[in-house]
Amino acid sequence: MAIDFDENIKVDYLEDERLASRKIKLGILRLDKIHPEISGNKWFKLKENIKAAIELQHDSILTFGGAYSNHLAAASAAAHRFGLKSIGIVRGLHGDAQSSHTISFCRGKGMHIEFVSREVYQLKYDDAYLAALSAQYNQPYMIPEGGNNQAGRIGCMSIVPHIPQSATHVAISLGTGTTFCGVANALHNDVNLLGFPVMKGGNYLLEEVKPFINNPGLSYSLNDLYHFGGFAKNTPILIDFMNDFYLKHNIRLDFVYTAKMMYGVFDLIAKGYFPENTHLIAIHTGGLQGNLSLGSKIIF
Ligand SMILES: *Cc1c(COP(=O)(O)O)cnc(C)c1O
Repeated sequence: MAIDFDENIKVDYLEDERLASRKIKLGILRLDKIHPEISGNKWFKLKENIKAAIELQHDSILTFGGAYSNHLAAASAAAHRFGLKSIGIVRGLHGDAQSSHTISFCRGKGMHIEFVSREVYQLKYDDAYLAALSAQYNQPYMIPEGGNNQAGRIGCMSIVPHIPQSATHVAISLGTGTTFCGVANALHNDVNLLGFPVMKGGNYLLEEVKPFINNPGLSYSLNDLYHFGGFAKNTPILIDFMNDFYLKHNIRLDFVYTAKMMYGVFDLIAKGYFPENTHLIAIHTGGLQGNLSLGSKIIF
């Protein structure tokens, strides 16, 4: 079964005085180009799950997310594309959750949405709750929040063949760290992998990813200084950076993940973190649908 959109992926090298003067080559791996709706790393996390759902003859998938979740949007579109029904368990009974652009999009893809309280949502890994959901929805194939399972990590290994072999460093943002693990496991171990958690205090993710990374000799690290107030928060500095980046490079970043990573990358470059002749590949993991919630703050 061919469910690959990989032919749209490319690397765009940035032209920037700040790079040239330090002899740094910086390329953006454009996973955002894969598909307009099943975008970025979310496709890599979903593909082995979708394959398994079909092979195991489920007629639906069930997964979890917040009202602006890129994962939920991609899961609804992928299920629709491959003829599966989908169910989304969404956190939040009040306000935003009910009417977000993401939820409308998911419904447009045929996803059945069940809103649950924050308390119930916290049961997302609870066996009894999952069993009850499975019975309620007629045994759907279950995908955890964020596509954070073994199939998700394995799917993300196939990001790595798109990274040029001469890369010395790879940068990526982390939500759950699923993508980071997959990339870490498939990278050549002489590449430096640098992760940017997008929430406050995100270095806790180092302990979460460790058990799933098996690549002796690989050096990887996290830098959680670029959270801009916390998960899905932003500041005028971040928004200016995104607008400026678009004007300079004609590449749109999303405010939840890739803008924070790119800001961090440029800040570290300015601080001399990367040695001369670094060939850095920053992974654009997509997620642009999330920018809809920014309205006119964003110029693209
Ligand atoms: C979900 C997401 C991430 C984080 O991926 P994890 O595998 O959860 O770490 C990064 N970038 C974008 C654009 C995303 O939508």
